[in-house]
Amino acid sequence: MAIWNPAEILPREQLEALQLERLRACVARVLRAVAPLAARLRAAGIADAREIGSLADLRRLPFTTKADLRDHYPFGLLGVPRDQVVRVHASSGTRGKPSVAAYTRNDLGVWNEVMARCMTMAGVRPGMVVHNAYGYGLFTGGLGFHQGAELIGCTVVPISGGFTQRQAMLLRDFGGNVLCATPSYALNIAEALERDSIDPRMLKLELGLFGAEPWTEQMRGEIERRLGLTAINMYGLSEIVGPGVSGECREVRSGSHVHEDHFLPEIIDPETGDALPPGREGELVFTPVTKEALPLIRYRTGDIAALDATPCACGRTTVRMSRIRGRRDDMLIIRGVNLYPSEIERIMLGVADVAPHYQLLVERPASLDQLTLLCEPSRDDLDREHLRARLEHELHQQTGISIAVRLLDRDQVARSEGKAVRVVDRRPR
Ligand SMILES: [Zn+2]
Repeated sequence: MAIWNPAEILPREQLEALQLERLRACVARVLRAVAPLAARLRAAGIADAREIGSLADLRRLPFTTKADLRDHYPFGLLGVPRDQVVRVHASSGTRGKPSVAAYTRNDLGVWNEVMARCMTMAGVRPGMVVHNAYGYGLFTGGLGFHQGAELIGCTVVPISGGFTQRQAMLLRDFGGNVLCATPSYALNIAEALERDSIDPRMLKLELGLFGAEPWTEQMRGEIERRLGLTAINMYGLSEIVGPGVSGECREVRSGSHVHEDHFLPEIIDPETGDALPPGREGELVFTPVTKEALPLIRYRTGDIAALDATPCACGRTTVRMSRIRGRRDDMLIIRGVNLYPSEIERIMLGVADVAPHYQLLVERPASLDQLTLLCEPSRDDLDREHLRARLEHELHQQTGISIAVRLLDRDQVARSEGKAVRVVDRRPR
């Protein structure tokens, strides 16, 4: 078992002492340098970082949200003078302005470090060829994996997203051992290999590091089968650092280890904001305690997951987070039933002969919302009407609501080159 940094196996008491010290430093930084968040801390009765007596006091601190980043766009929440910021990234704002992430030189060092930890934990070793198909640019995926792989000492192929047929060729020619991509794009690359008649067994692929969108165990099985690799789940978001907030260990692959010496995780009830105990599902909240350029306190991610504090067989002492069930913004409420696209994905992939590409269409033809699953058969020689009926039956059985299925021809569901668009909302605003 390879461990990048002994911080991953610190005894809990030592880890918690370090977390407390860093939390105090983070609160002090915000009070000193980030006026809008400092005002909120003072309003909550925290005028001095020394009032943080224990980690339990984290719960006394007010939340920050994406709306705060939007309200102070682009640089209003910086914890350092702008000229100490050596890099900015931004998340794709689906509506309006993007959320800006900023890094000092030290922040970039932390990011590289946690990426190297995640990739080592996933089984990446020095000398491996890393085919990095995450998008390079304002999106943190491309550069995040790039830096982590370089720090470990891998051979990085910075191919970025797109030109999918070319990806297949270079994956074969350069002998890629590790594929970094969104899960939906990995499937797209798998299809490009099939089109070129490249059998995955002819490749040197061993590992896939997949993240940046919610996906299911069923999808993991599908990708592993089609690409002949071990698929590892990675998690992160630009507001906290980018990819590298947590990742699965190769030994266990059950939950992602959070780098708790840098990111303090919590789960809250998304309605009341109350902290929930380990094991309960709710909204993930992170406090990136070592962040200098953008020191956010209790940032609400909008991602729905649970924390697991039980010891892991890999030996790491850090808490693990479950797969993301969905983003709060992506939750569909169809005739009173709450549904995440990942649940449809799980049910759909449980039905034989369905290809792993899909999109959900939400419409309101009259007064009621209607959900339609657009998907494809996995082969051309199937009884399509029978397959459609099986899918509709299974979706109804497992969700309790009627979901229409529209089986498109093969290759007709839009393919992703980065983050997949799972929901197309055609309801009148
Ligand atoms: Zn583990």
